[in-house]
Amino acid sequence: MLYGAPEPVAGCDVCQALDKQRSEARAEGDMSKVSDFKLEIRNHPHRGRGRRS
Ligand SMILES: [Zn+2]
Repeated sequence: MLYGAPEPVAGCDVCQALDKQRSEARAEGDMSKVSDFKLEIRNHPHRGRGRRS
């Protein structure tokens, strides 16, 4: 795992999408966008542990 990389919550579509966009931003070398996505993933609110019931 890369340093400082937040873990997208398994089963959360938003986190998965943010993680994908983060990867794309990194591939483009846009590190400020990467940082934004990291924060969004880290701060994305979940009820419980990301499993909706
Ligand atoms: Zn999420």
